[in-house]
Amino acid sequence: MLNYDAIIIGTGQSGPPLARRLTAAGMNVAILERKLFGGTCVNTGCTPTKTLVASAYAAHVARRAADYGIRIEGAIQVNMKAVKARMDRVVAASRNGVERSLKTLKGCTVYEGHGRFIGEKAISVNGSELAAPRVFLNVGARATVPRIPGLDRVSYLTNSSMMDIDSLPPHLIILGGSYVGLEFAQIYRRFGSEVTVIELGPRLIPREDEDISDAVADFLKREGINVRVDSKAVGVEPRGNSIAVAIESAGKRSQVVGTHLLVAIGRRPNTDDLGLDKSGIAADARGYIQVDDQLRTNVAGIWAIGDCNGRGAFTHTSWNDFEIVAANLLDNDQRRVSDRITAYALYTDPPLGRAGMSEREVRAAGKPALVSTLAMQNVGRAFERGETTGFMKILVDRNSHQILGASFLGLNGDEVIHCILDTMYAKAPYTVLQRAMHIHPTVAEDVPTMLDNLQPLQ
Ligand SMILES: Cc1cc2nc3c(=O)[nH]c(=O)nc-3n(C[C@H](O)[C@H](O)[C@H](O)COP(=O)(O)OP(=O)(O)OC[C@H]3O[C@@H](n4cnc5c(N)ncnc54)[C@H](O)[C@@H]3O)c2cc1C
Repeated sequence: MLNYDAIIIGTGQSGPPLARRLTAAGMNVAILERKLFGGTCVNTGCTPTKTLVASAYAAHVARRAADYGIRIEGAIQVNMKAVKARMDRVVAASRNGVERSLKTLKGCTVYEGHGRFIGEKAISVNGSELAAPRVFLNVGARATVPRIPGLDRVSYLTNSSMMDIDSLPPHLIILGGSYVGLEFAQIYRRFGSEVTVIELGPRLIPREDEDISDAVADFLKREGINVRVDSKAVGVEPRGNSIAVAIESAGKRSQVVGTHLLVAIGRRPNTDDLGLDKSGIAADARGYIQVDDQLRTNVAGIWAIGDCNGRGAFTHTSWNDFEIVAANLLDNDQRRVSDRITAYALYTDPPLGRAGMSEREVRAAGKPALVSTLAMQNVGRAFERGETTGFMKILVDRNSHQILGASFLGLNGDEVIHCILDTMYAKAPYTVLQRAMHIHPTVAEDVPTMLDNLQPLQ
């Protein structure tokens, strides 16, 4: 048995920074990675998709060049091999950076293999047995593959295998009209594919407010994406070189035939092959490891951080998990998961930036609220840029004047939302933001103006 002060399984968004903090505190640390250093975000999530979003945006703007008085001779062509090469370069730089930093970290031993519990705090990897009084699980999640008859007979894609594509899919069918599916939908439509999105629920991104879902569906449809909501995929079969997906919608059956099929219906934690039972670690019915407000599992000395604890599904929540664990363990600073405010973005163009509660959540909570919305058409910067799709919405508590939440669907919405988020963290009343002088011309300059126009939420 090889003894360490701490073992970290997984090199996602919280494992590597935690290794740095623990070794800096003098601990002897083992970190395990079974596949790609940097995990989902770096290799098959945020980083590659955002490089694709950038390439797709370039193609889109090039097609619109005439709107800006620019003439481009000939048709706009997308070189998929070059798009992929660019993505691979950016991803490799990040992945290699994580790998190098861990392998050169003093006090840290890297094991490249699958870790599995063989005892309460004992783990086997590549035939070695490791033990430590502290174990941190940063094992992440992977795409959920639904049980649809025939799916196993076609070569469907997930967010991971999408990264291998270096030619244009003539017709990409996407199962799932939520965050991951919609980003890929717009990316590939802009590259030139025909795209069909099949969503089970009555609208896209069902977690968002209806007006947001409608606006997103509207601009995706305007770009030529086929959106099928209220549609259940009930069967899949190979059809020559194509794939046929049978759909049931309002009792009626129909079929969509495409060349590629992406499954993007959700994520499941990588905990089924971790030997949790050997340690006695409790997980819920879906496999998410149960943790308390400081991310401790039911087994003393074992923490679960990142997507595998079901308390967040983002790079920033995983990173925040690292900060919470490090603060409690090393800094005598009792940070908690419940201190954080919901925040995330959908990277369509325009993007959706979200902070705090949605309008639906405010209504469900029965909070007396004020609301203000502003169409991006009335935002000077968006008008100047010729990118006026979307709207911004802010909700404020009528009594406390604290901001309850915001949804910014529009140019730079993923950035501008931070002025809301930071005001919420400061627990300042909205009037502080209302009186702030913002820079002209920006999208953010309209946020104080929006707060001049708050109306009771009916
Ligand atoms: C297509 C897509 C786009 C996304 N875009 C965004 C975005 O724009 N912004 C955002 O905030 N989030 C985004 N996310 C989510 C984000 O990628 C994850 O929330 C983030 O990577 C956090 O992951 P993590 O730290 O929990 O672990 P992960 O990054 O999933 O890493 C876990 C690591 O553990 C390793 N591992 C697992 N089991 C074992 C084992 N038994 N032994 C050894 N190693 C093991 C895995 O190989 C993996 O490397 C996106 C996700 C997807 C799928």
